[in-house]
Amino acid sequence: MAWDFRTDADFQAELDWIRDVVVNQIEPLDLVKHEMSPESWKRATDPIKQQVQDRNLWAAHLDPELGGQGMGQVRLALMHEILGRTASAPNLFGNQAPDSGNSELLAIGANDEQKAKWLWPLLAGELTSSFSLTEPETAGSDPTQIQTTAVLDGDEYVINGHKWFASNAAVADFVLAMVVTNPDGGPYERASMICIERGTPGMNIVRNVHTMDHPFDGPGDQHLGGHAEILFEDCRVPRANLIGNPGEGFLLAQKRLSGGRIHHAMRWIGTCHRAFDMMCERAVSRQMHGRTLGDKQFVQDFVAESRTEIDAARLLTLHAAWHWDTYGAEKSRVQIAQIKYWGARVLYNVIDRSIQVHGAMGFSTDLPLERMYRIARNFRISDGADETHKSFIARRVLKEYKPVDGYPTEHVPTRRAEAEQRFAEFLDLATANS
Ligand SMILES: Cc1cc2nc3c(=O)[nH]c(=O)nc-3n(C[C@H](O)[C@H](O)[C@H](O)COP(=O)(O)OP(=O)(O)OC[C@H]3O[C@@H](n4cnc5c(N)ncnc54)[C@H](O)[C@@H]3O)c2cc1C
Repeated sequence: MAWDFRTDADFQAELDWIRDVVVNQIEPLDLVKHEMSPESWKRATDPIKQQVQDRNLWAAHLDPELGGQGMGQVRLALMHEILGRTASAPNLFGNQAPDSGNSELLAIGANDEQKAKWLWPLLAGELTSSFSLTEPETAGSDPTQIQTTAVLDGDEYVINGHKWFASNAAVADFVLAMVVTNPDGGPYERASMICIERGTPGMNIVRNVHTMDHPFDGPGDQHLGGHAEILFEDCRVPRANLIGNPGEGFLLAQKRLSGGRIHHAMRWIGTCHRAFDMMCERAVSRQMHGRTLGDKQFVQDFVAESRTEIDAARLLTLHAAWHWDTYGAEKSRVQIAQIKYWGARVLYNVIDRSIQVHGAMGFSTDLPLERMYRIARNFRISDGADETHKSFIARRVLKEYKPVDGYPTEHVPTRRAEAEQRFAEFLDLATANS
């Protein structure tokens, strides 16, 4: 039993259609994706993309002027929790990271010429993109430290620096990189966002870093963009490739990341549901000591904890979505930070318990759980580590409180005296009324 967030009949029909496509068409394909060449994957999935576009559900997170539905975050949440059931669904619905966030960045910061060159083809699925902020030598959790520079030389910027973990950069048509253009500016005004097109001399892809989610460069990984390490060595790009004004890099990055984080959290609910369904099916099917696994109290604990954590994450996510729809993204940063770290933790916990209940089978690649687990681990780091979000929440919360003089030595007795006084008044009143 999950919480019931019923929506109107027309949108419910869309959600039912999305669920049918995800469960019956995409999930089975996803299981054999690693055995398919990119060409056969494209042949198999192009018809699904076409159906999505015909139904006006492509890139639904965007505003109508960008070709999206402008459906609001709550409806998006209901849609994305279905897409999150399987890794390929967001891609086939035009919502995949990093393209979705990059399209939002370009929509906010790009001029008409830049939109024609990069935004519209990106939205049409004709181009792919990457976002590159993180550097090996500086803490990604404090982007004011970034060192990669872009220095103006005539009508060109010359970029030098070292980046890594730029997802998809090795295969993307362009990379949006955060670079220092105003070294003498304040910490939040030093950086800008610049577009570097694939094949630009001086943008050298050193390697795809082998990670838990992309461990090999072997067959089967041919679909994966990977997380690239990049050396910029006197890389020259036209001045016209700067997105927004010099020094607006932070502003644009912040806007880009908010959307990405809330959509990730929405999809995690779907992944949780899938892992949870598998856990429960296994619990009621597997026989042990003359009973089912689900009769064991340890397993019941897994089921109860998971059900409750998923419901809590879902409520927090829907609340964040409602907050965004009601007050806007900027005023919803605490709610987004909450679901980013809490959602990632619940995702990790639920998949971990589901693997445990499946025993050796859960650890095997026969089931999608081990892959879900490897992908899930990254969400506690990427798009801001858990600690960064918790620290932000705590700082915002503590701002609401004022220091109390003499706390606790004077404050507590004063509060106690107030309480005793009120209690005495209550007793007097009760006696008078009796
Ligand atoms: C799978 C994956 C994909 C990624 N994709 C991209 C991408 O496409 N583009 C891109 O630019 N980057 C990407 N990243 C990088 C990611 O954004 C950074 O890893 C993240 O911002 C953390 O930066 P860092 O790795 O430099 O760790 P650091 O900043 O060095 O932090 C290390 C650890 O310090 C702790 N910490 C951080 N802040 C605090 C705090 N306030 N209080 C206490 N402890 C703290 C946390 O435990 C953190 O994990 C990706 C990362 C992963 C894992």
